[in-house]
Amino acid sequence: MSLFGKKEEQVVSESDVKRGLKKKEFVFYYQPEFDLKTNKIIGVEALMRWNAPDRIIPPDEFIPVLEKSGLIKDVTDFLCRETLTDLKTIQQKNCPDAVMAVNVSAAQLQEKSFNVIVHKVLEETQTEAKFLECEITESQQMVLPEMSETVFQQLADAGVAVSIDDFGTGYSTFKYLRYLKNIKKLKVDCDFVRSLGEDARSKTILSAIIKMAHDLQIPVLAEGIETTEQKEWLEKNGCDYGQGFWFSRPLPLDQLIAFIEKK
Ligand code: C2E
Ligand code: CA
Ligand code: CA
Repeated sequence: MSLFGKKEEQVVSESDVKRGLKKKEFVFYYQPEFDLKTNKIIGVEALMRWNAPDRIIPPDEFIPVLEKSGLIKDVTDFLCRETLTDLKTIQQKNCPDAVMAVNVSAAQLQEKSFNVIVHKVLEETQTEAKFLECEITESQQMVLPEMSETVFQQLADAGVAVSIDDFGTGYSTFKYLRYLKNIKKLKVDCDFVRSLGEDARSKTILSAIIKMAHDLQIPVLAEGIETTEQKEWLEKNGCDYGQGFWFSRPLPLDQLIAFIEKK
């Protein structure tokens, strides 16, 4: 484990991942995002899973392998096509304005073809650009600051929403807030939400993040909400949106539809 609690050892090999991709074993689970005031679903985040023959493998175990091997670039078309097709089904279930949020790695952004693929799939699935949201973590942006900025801005200019993921965990946060225009939302990392009950300092920091984002006209989403206390504190302190096990775990499409229909 690293200082931040992330697994560092590589438990799956590149050839395993290649085989999995070939056999189309990668799937998406969807976790709904909610408006904290209205409790309405505003969109879903696509979280990749590897449906391997012996177990379901979480992304922390295979995304680093995809990134290191460069295979992540081959995933962009699949990522957009699969999730935007599923978005159609979700929107038909009483969520006409739901947005599909996808996680994008720096290695994907590095490909000049990234924007081209995104636009091709938007057209082929007949999806308006505003229904796609690309989430980039600030640590990934740090790897490729200039390139990310360009692709970011091109996406934003074309109407695709771009959000900053895991806000507060990296080092480039403030630079990006300064330079990038049209950030759709700022997603505050689970760690901040988890520490809410622990000390007053966490509350002070979270309040300051919300105020700063709002001063910049950027809405804030809190990740990893697990308790009623966390949800209520965030709502009371002006946080716009939330996501976490308190609302729903990430679900396969059919279970997500059942969840939406029960609401
Ligand atoms: P992330 O983008 O920060 O996604 C949120 C993670 O928090 C997800 O883990 C989700 O299952 C988990 N989570 C949601 N609510 C709660 C909660 O209330 N409590 C706790 N403890 N955890 C919660 P997951 O699905 O294992 O994904 C891990 C990371 O893998 C993601 O972090 C994202 O950075 C990456 N990832 C997932 N799918 C993709 C993908 O398609 N492409 C890329 N490049 N990265 C992906
Ligand atoms: Ca994310
Ligand atoms: Ca996150």
